[in-house]
Formats: sequence, structure tokens, C-alpha cells
Amino acid sequence: MAKKFPVQRVKVHHVYDVWEVAQLLGCHKQTVIRWINFKGLAAEKSRKPWLIEGKDLKAFLGVRQTKTAVKLALHHCYCLGCKSPREPDGKMADYTQQTPETGRLTGLCHECGSLMHKVVRRTDLEAIRAKIEVTVQQASPRLVSLNDPGSKVTFKQEVGHHAKTQHK
Ligand SMILES: [Zn+2]
Repeated sequence: MAKKFPVQRVKVHHVYDVWEVAQLLGCHKQTVIRWINFKGLAAEKSRKPWLIEGKDLKAFLGVRQTKTAVKLALHHCYCLGCKSPREPDGKMADYTQQTPETGRLTGLCHECGSLMHKVVRRTDLEAIRAKIEVTVQQASPRLVSLNDPGSKVTFKQEVGHHAKTQHK
């Protein structure tokens, strides 16, 4: 789910600006700015460019990577806003088929309203649906038609039942 960043490249005693952090980690500058503004990455913001201490960056990434490794319940998604596993709001989520075996489960965090998603196996879908209401979005026909005629029927029924307005 979350991208793994090369934390080991961060030098604890070095001070980086946003651009350097982005280069070092191979991520977008906006990502770093978002970390600072919303995710609690400590930075010196009193003047530009903002400066980030290596030790703060390392701690931030370390925590982030440990926490995203938390084992989620099947019907829970990890909320990046709350930094916690959350049940989708109203016990409702959407499922969009992405490959013959997997799809994306999307829901809103019931605490902060952030959009959450995670990749789930289609074989887990029934177990998830035992816990929350899942609306199956129409998958691209190319993916569904791959030697699995049984699933086609299921998806058609679901789409007709839940979301008549969904067209792709
Ligand atoms: Zn949240």
C-alpha cells in the first residue's frame, strides 16, 4: 500500500530542504510539503526554504512505515488522516475490479472523512461483505472476461442492483 522509502539514506545529522528530501527519497516535492503540513513531519518553517532535520525525517518515515505495516481487519482501511485503521463510514465501501484477482476497496473514514482505499483479493470480497456493505463498481470488461464466467454474472447483478448510474 504505502511506498517504501529508502530511510537508510537519510543522514541523521544533516539538515535538508524540501527539495533535497524529495530527491533523496525519490518522491514528489508536494509529498514532502504535505507531510510537513498535514502529517506531522517536523520542519523549520520560519523562513524559506523550509528545513527538515535528518533525525526528524528519519523518525517520521520510521513511524510511518511501521504503522502502515499494521495488520488490518479485512473490512478496515488504513486512514492516512487519522494514521489508524478505520472502518468505512456508514459501513459502506466501493469495490472496483482491477485485475482478475484483485480490486480496490474505497471508503470514507468515519472519523475524519478522508478517502481511504486498499487493494483486496476478490476471494476476500464475500468476507468483507459480511461486515460492511460493498457496492461493486463495474470493472473494465477486459479484466472480468478473463476465463471466469461465474464472476461475470455476479458483477452484473451487483451493478444492476446498486448503481444504475455507473457507466464506464
Ligand atoms: Zn481518518
